Amino acid sequence: MTRSEATASTTGSDRTDEYDVIVIGAGPVGENVAERAHAAGLSAALVESELVGGECSYWACMPSKALLRPVAALADARHVGGSAQAVRGPLDAEAVLARRNSFTSDWEDGSQVEWLDSVGLDLVRGQGRLDGPRRVKVETPDGSTRTLSARHAVAVCTGSRAALPDLPGIEEARPWTSREATASKEVPGRLAVVGGGVVAVEMATAWQALGAEVTVLVRGDRLLARMEPFAGELVSEALTEAGAKIRTGVSVESLRRPSPDRPVTLTLSDGGELEADEVLFATGRRPRTEDLGLETVGCEPGDWLTVDDSCRVKGVQGGWLYAVGDANGRALLTHQGKYQARIAGAAMGARAAGVPLLETDPWGAHAATADHEAVPQVVFTDPEATSVGLTAAEAEQRGLRVRAVDLDMGGVAGAALFADGYRGRARMVVDLDREVLVGVTFVGPGVTELLHSATVAVAGEVPLERLWHAVPSYPTISEVWLRLLEVYRG
Ligand SMILES: Cc1cc2nc3c(=O)[nH]c(=O)nc-3n(C[C@H](O)[C@H](O)[C@H](O)COP(=O)(O)OP(=O)(O)OC[C@H]3O[C@@H](n4cnc5c(N)ncnc54)[C@H](O)[C@@H]3O)c2cc1C
Repeated sequence: MTRSEATASTTGSDRTDEYDVIVIGAGPVGENVAERAHAAGLSAALVESELVGGECSYWACMPSKALLRPVAALADARHVGGSAQAVRGPLDAEAVLARRNSFTSDWEDGSQVEWLDSVGLDLVRGQGRLDGPRRVKVETPDGSTRTLSARHAVAVCTGSRAALPDLPGIEEARPWTSREATASKEVPGRLAVVGGGVVAVEMATAWQALGAEVTVLVRGDRLLARMEPFAGELVSEALTEAGAKIRTGVSVESLRRPSPDRPVTLTLSDGGELEADEVLFATGRRPRTEDLGLETVGCEPGDWLTVDDSCRVKGVQGGWLYAVGDANGRALLTHQGKYQARIAGAAMGARAAGVPLLETDPWGAHAATADHEAVPQVVFTDPEATSVGLTAAEAEQRGLRVRAVDLDMGGVAGAALFADGYRGRARMVVDLDREVLVGVTFVGPGVTELLHSATVAVAGEVPLERLWHAVPSYPTISEVWLRLLEVYRG
């Protein structure tokens, strides 16, 4: 395929660079959209206002998992007689933080920029804003403005940021968001964590293990409310055993921090107060679409952008605007955003070539269907909590006739070998009309790598009578599959 070239034209003093595709936001998703479009024969430029690699590389997935991996490694050793005796001390916080720093390349993006160069993508540093159909204006760090124009498509891949509640005193309290929670150079003495979702429980797990006294404040009645109820219960039990305090049914009403070097005091909905050295608000995300010029193309600034399954923004004339990854709000996960990126990039290539989508991709891969029914998620707590697809309650809400099959994983030989007194649970949600799985949840030590088998079963709609012939190796935790199917068959 002949690649379209980037071209430049000049009108008066204003220079316009023209590409086939312009991607605003060089996070993991933007990088992949540009790379896929380029692989489909299109020229592409990426616009980035901070670091190439995005939230994921510097303030989310990578640093959080770098903090959590030593926690899991130590827990695994402690759960096994023999190795438990060999590891009696706490984590070496300084070494853990240093290792975390190496995974963020000390918050420098040189290697990612090199990668962009190596695959032939142009980078334009600065804040990008739409300026009418197919045009992007970039305010560059030196204060000048560059105009980019797209022959075929513009993709908004600007991600999301932490949503902070509007509470009295919140600004003066200088709360942590996920950015400070993943990038802090010091372990706080006392850390209050507001929220009960994935970021809250992961960061509570990491900082408790690194030596902070953690208190988690949850408005609802359980942690991890979007997963099967037992996930939150097991994670809550383990966090409590590790020394953290979990308080449910309580919210923060106001904050007080008299000066930056003094502790923060939270006033709570139950009338009590809580003093902490730092407070992390892990209370959801909002799209980074408020300062993006969306109003110039008929879209609402500040909203998640609603897209079709090829990630084209709905209601935009000409179909040239895409929103991929967190910006479209479908599934705020790197792997899901990169999946969408593969689809959107290929769809751009096919549309630019004027070829019907399905003809260029016999896999039918121009539609991000997995977003609807097979999104996998790992919560890197101790125990790990993993799920794919629907919970039993969600399946029922969708009107499916389902059966939830539950298993205490302690009885699985591979699990018992993995950890003494193994504590874990599994659930598969069976669609009784089709006899396929629509959801699977595993909670327990060492289940992270098991999740993909469930994703294959759910996304592949593997009939249970075939799954019965997928024989798990003995003695591994995977035997949970056999036991679940035995319970189902009765
Ligand atoms: C603490 C935490 C842990 C997480 N852990 C995981 C995990 O383990 N696994 C997982 O799958 N997901 C995880 N996530 C979610 C994951 O980080 C996001 O889903 C992912 O980063 C989304 O990628 P993105 O490219 O859409 O957006 P981002 O990674 O947010 O990248 C967007 C980029 O766009 C840039 N940008 C924004 N506006 C403009 C503009 N106007 N002009 C130019 N550039 C702009 C930003 O600077 C940024 O670089 C985690 C999230 C958090 C908060």
